[in-house]
Amino acid sequence: MGEPLMLATWTTGQAANAAGWPHLVAPDGGAIDAVEHACRNAEADPQNMTVGYGGRPDAAGEVTLDASIMVSPARCGSVCFVRRFMHPVSIARLVMDRSPHVLLAGDGAERFALAHGLEPADLLTNAARQAWQAWLATRGAAAVGTPQANIEEAPAAAAPAAEAAHVVEAAEAAEAAEADHDTIGVLARDAGGRLAGACSTSGMAFNAPGRVGDSPIIGHGLYVDPDRGAAVATGHGELVMGVCGTFLAVERMGQGASPAEAAAEVVRRIADAYDLAENDQVGIITLAPDGAWSSAALRRGFRVAVRTPDRDELAEPHTVLLT
Ligand code: ASP
Repeated sequence: MGEPLMLATWTTGQAANAAGWPHLVAPDGGAIDAVEHACRNAEADPQNMTVGYGGRPDAAGEVTLDASIMVSPARCGSVCFVRRFMHPVSIARLVMDRSPHVLLAGDGAERFALAHGLEPADLLTNAARQAWQAWLATRGAAAVGTPQANIEEAPAAAAPAAEAAHVVEAAEAAEAAEADHDTIGVLARDAGGRLAGACSTSGMAFNAPGRVGDSPIIGHGLYVDPDRGAAVATGHGELVMGVCGTFLAVERMGQGASPAEAAAEVVRRIADAYDLAENDQVGIITLAPDGAWSSAALRRGFRVAVRTPDRDELAEPHTVLLT
C-alpha cells in the first residue's frame, strides 16, 4: 500500500510531523492518530503564536481556537471559538468519534469537552498579551470591522504610551519570527493506505471578535475523501472560504487532476475571484489516494514539511502563483 507519509504546513510542520510520526507507524496507530498528535504538538507550543496555547488573541484580547479533523465525508469533526481548552483538535476528534454532529461552537464545544474529561486551560500567554497590547496601541483603534466598543471593553487595558514602545518591539519581533508559519495543517497516509487530515489555529491575529475562518469548516480549510484525496489550506481563511478551497482541490483530483494541478487551480481561482491585498497569502497541500502529493501558494514563503521513512525536510510549493 506504499510507504507512510506526513505533510504539514509551514516550518513548524516539521516538529508537528515528528510528534505524529510514531503514531503513524505504530502497529495500533495510523493516519488519524498521527494527524491529531501532530496538531497537539503545535497547540501546546507557547512559541507558536498562531495555534493553541500562546496563540495571538482577537481584537478584544481573547484567544479563540478552531480545529477540524477528517477521514471521510461521513467521518469528520470540528470545533470553533474554543476559549478554555488547549487542544481543540482533540475536541474535534471527540465530536467525530462520539457525537452525531460535525461542528460544535463556543460554550457548547467547551461543555462537550468537559463532559468528555478534557482539562480546561488558560490560553493567553504574556507574549501574546503584549503583542495584542502593541497592536491596540498602534493599529487597533483604526482596525476595519472592529467595533470600538469591543476594544474599550477588552479584558486588559491598552498599554500606556510610555510602555507602548517596548510592546511594539515585542510584537514586531513576534511578527517577523512568524513570517514562515501559521495554522498547522497536516495530511497523513499510513502503511495501510488510509488517509487523514487535521488542522488547528488561533485564527488571524487580532481578528474581529466572533470571526471564524476556514480551518474548522469542512471543505474549506480541510477535506478528505478516501477515494479522491485530501487537502489542507492555510493563510487568509476568507479567501479559501470563497472558493471552498479544499473541497475544490479534492473534487478536481477525483475528476483526474494531478495533486499539482488541483492545488494550482485553487490558488488561481482565488487570484481570479479576489482583488488581493499585498500581504494576502494562501497555501494548500494536496494528497492523492496513491500517496502522490503537491502544494501551491499565492506567494513566496509557504513551505511544506515532508516526512517519510527516509525523508524529513521542508519543500517549496510546486506552484507559487504571484511572484
Ligand atoms: N486560515 C486561518 C484562518 O483564516 C489562519 C491561518 O492559516 O493563518 O483562520
